Formats: sequence, C-alpha cells, structure tokens
Amino acid sequence: ETLDKGLEKSKTNFFNKLSKAVAGKSKVDDEVLDNLEEILVTSDVGVNTTLKIIKRIEARVEQDKYLGTDELNKILREEIAGLLSETNSGEETEYTIPKDKKPYVLMVVGVNGVGKTTTIGKLAYQFKKQGLNVVLGAADTFRAAAIDQLQVWADRVDVPMVRQDMGSDPASVAFDALQSGVNQNADVIIIDTAGRLHNKVNLMNELTKVKRVMQKVIGDAPHDVLLVLDGSTGQNAFEQAKQFTAATEVTSLAVTKLDGTAKGGVVIGISDQFQIPVKYIGVGEGIEDLQVFNKYEFVDSFFK
Ligand code: GDP
Repeated sequence: ETLDKGLEKSKTNFFNKLSKAVAGKSKVDDEVLDNLEEILVTSDVGVNTTLKIIKRIEARVEQDKYLGTDELNKILREEIAGLLSETNSGEETEYTIPKDKKPYVLMVVGVNGVGKTTTIGKLAYQFKKQGLNVVLGAADTFRAAAIDQLQVWADRVDVPMVRQDMGSDPASVAFDALQSGVNQNADVIIIDTAGRLHNKVNLMNELTKVKRVMQKVIGDAPHDVLLVLDGSTGQNAFEQAKQFTAATEVTSLAVTKLDGTAKGGVVIGISDQFQIPVKYIGVGEGIEDLQVFNKYEFVDSFFK
C-alpha cells in the first residue's frame, strides 16, 4: 500500500501513457512498440535497457505471431521482472542480514543530498526493530552537518554512534566504529562515508583506505557496499552510479525519493545497466518510508 502511494507519480505517468499508446488498438504492432519505447525512455528506464525490453517483447510477438494489447501489461510485467532477475534485484522481501557474519558491516556511499543519512537512519530503525544490535559510524567527516545529522538519526532510533571531530580521518572513524561494534557484540555496523565526486582519484583513495583499515578489525569487511542514488534525478543517478562503480566495488543499491518523481523506471535501468541488485527503495521522508525492493510489487504497482 505504501509502495503504491510512494510510486503514485511514476505509476500515473506510466499507466496513462501506456493506455494512450494502445488506445483503439487490438494488437501489438510496430507503432505500439515505438510508443512503448518512448514511454520507457521518458520514464527514465534508460535507452539500453529500454531496447532490451523492446527486443524481448518483439520476440514474444514473433513467437506468438499475435499479441493482443490487452496482454501487453502482463507480458511487460513478466519481461521487466525477468530482466531484474538477472541482477538479483528484488529477490528479498524482508530486511535480512546473513547470520554467519557477525558483526555484519555495511558501508554506505553516495553523494551529498541523495538521502544517504536518511537511508542509514531508516535501515538502523528496521534492523533495531528486529532486535538486532546496531552501531553507526560517522565516517563522513568532511562536513560537520553530516555528522550531526547522522547523530539525530542515531538518537531517534536509539542506537550508539561512533564519531570524531569534523575533518578527522574517515578511516580512523571506521576503525573505531568496527572495534566498538565488536566490543558491544553488535549484529550490524553501518558506516557512513563522504561522497565527494569532485575528484575521482580522491574518492577512490578514500574509499579504498576506509575499507583497508576496516579489514584490520574484521578481515572480510565490508560485507556490503551500498550505493545510495536519488531516483528523482533520473539520468544523473546513472552518472553517479558510473562514477562510484569505477571508484569502488559497489555490491547493492538503494534508490531514494521515488515518491516525488515520475522517474521510477530508473530503478529498472540502473540495476540492469550496472548489474547490481537494487535492495532498497526510498518512498518518503519518514522513518518507515524505506522498503525492501521487491520486483513483483514494484512492477505491479505500475499497472494497478
Ligand atoms: P544526504 O546528504 O545524502 O545524507 O541526504 P539526507 O539523508 O540528508 O537527505 C536529503 C533530503 O532528502 C532530506 O530532506 C530527506 O528528508 C530527503 N529524503 C531522503 N530520502 C527520501 C525519500 O525517499 N523521499 C523523499 N521525499 N525525501 C527523501
């Protein structure tokens, strides 16, 4: 239900356009496919992924010889869900962390303003709700506001946060946070990092160093590198994904602010293009407004 509400704009946009594209047509022909292509591109699915989807539908038309427009919804749903399966996007239905990794270390990356702090707060809340011990590490030491904002969330969720002064070494904060997490018998440690993109080499060096130093405490940390992207920025989110994946090994994605945008298709395109699973989507500013990304619910919400 929250998902439907959260994706209202994307849904209306997509559904209205699709309805128009098939109006007065009984079968899927070249014109319908052309219109569909345009709808997908303008929903920020991205050109490459759109072409993949169109090809899949063309293959279905070819195979069945005739495809009624009344079936297009169903086929499109199947093909998009199939595409997301290739990246394991939307396979989870709950907030889970592997039981054999304790503490489980989640490193969160992304540029300022995308909703990184909010996503960490929401995740901490979900994990805590499950009875897990959560520790936060404020390793975005570049801006004092970043540390303070994370502290607000830590207080709100009532989880401990490890911090140092602004300007201190991010790797040192991450090290302290992991040590503190181990000492406190934490289940999950979430490390915030600075995401300045003005210099790619700096970003790479910084993230590499944070990882290396964390591994002095927990050999295989981080277990997950979560890149947070602002879904409402459409193609900008693609660009950020490109830069971060070049700088470090990103293992999962969170796409935020899908509530305020008609660009929900970005979730499909980014996952496909970068072959990284989308794990979470942000659908509001509230503490509960983060969802485990489920591809069936997501795709269905566009067609309801
Ligand atoms: P950071 O700089 O990346 O840490 O970004 P913040 O977490 O401070 O978020 C920036 C702004 O985006 C804040 O006003 C948040 O409330 C807002 N925000 C974060 N996630 C979402 C979301 O899923 N939906 C909406 N509408 N706003 C969000």
